[in-house]
Amino acid sequence: MITRRDFLIGSTAFASAYAAATMMPLRAQGTPNFGMPTPPGVGFRRMKLGDFELVALNDGIMRRPLGEEFVRNAPFAQVQETLRVQGLPTEYIDVPYTPFLVVAGNRRILMDTGFSDNGPAMTGRLLANMAAAGFKPEDIDTVLISHYHGDHISGLRNKAGQLTFPRARILVPSVEHAFWMDDERMAAAPAGMKAGFATARRVFTGLTADQLSTFTPGGEVAPGITSIPAYGHTPGHTLYSVRSGSQRFLFVADLTNVPQLFARNPDWAVVFDMNADQARDTRRKVFDMIVKENMLAGGYHFPFPAFGTISTLGNGYEFKPVA
Ligand SMILES: [Zn+2]
Repeated sequence: MITRRDFLIGSTAFASAYAAATMMPLRAQGTPNFGMPTPPGVGFRRMKLGDFELVALNDGIMRRPLGEEFVRNAPFAQVQETLRVQGLPTEYIDVPYTPFLVVAGNRRILMDTGFSDNGPAMTGRLLANMAAAGFKPEDIDTVLISHYHGDHISGLRNKAGQLTFPRARILVPSVEHAFWMDDERMAAAPAGMKAGFATARRVFTGLTADQLSTFTPGGEVAPGITSIPAYGHTPGHTLYSVRSGSQRFLFVADLTNVPQLFARNPDWAVVFDMNADQARDTRRKVFDMIVKENMLAGGYHFPFPAFGTISTLGNGYEFKPVA
């Protein structure tokens, strides 16, 4: 059954904003040119976590003009003011893309994949940054996927269709897989959303049972790594908690888009949250857990090195990147 609720996000504004953030370099005629963003000078960062090592691996960065549509439930002036008081530009937003690697004994586990050569300019740098950090694609034995937006899964295959991580077993949340691989839902989706369904088919179709497995979020997916359901951003959006000794790291994926806006204002709905109410509840619960349990946090769209701490600030939270 396809309900209207499934497609609340099917507006033109959503479709163009989604395209802008995930796949397509949008520079329509007449759009002001805000210049190119600056990628991190060194595109990887290692952190110790107990006996494990974590490596943030930047896939690139995109600069998108900031429009009224970006935050669906706050006045634009307030959104711009929030950026201004942090000394940030108010006319555009720089959105980085950062998968994380967990080195646990002889295991090499990658969380999300970037774009490979399927994305906009200034993306597709994951393998180069991985090489700079000392890892080869065939070293990866497991890929964990948070959700099926193109910026998180496109990099599983290059444009020619070859698997980027040839030895890896790909683990995906069952709820997310079922949603995006549902042909009836794809047929009923608005035009602007069909690309998302097509991307899922492009990367997942043809994989064997050895290469792709689904799991129900809430349990262990690899030694020391537990999946946590965090639905709302997408129907099956899932986080990964990594524990070694007494230390914990939480990969929060797209729990918030850029934290300078949405950690400070967790009730604000970014245009990409498919179920804004559910995403908001999830965001507050997870942020509370991170603060209470003093976890290291990493976000896919957090400013590089994308690792840091979360503390409460006013009615929201603040992300502080590690030095
Ligand atoms: Zn994303």
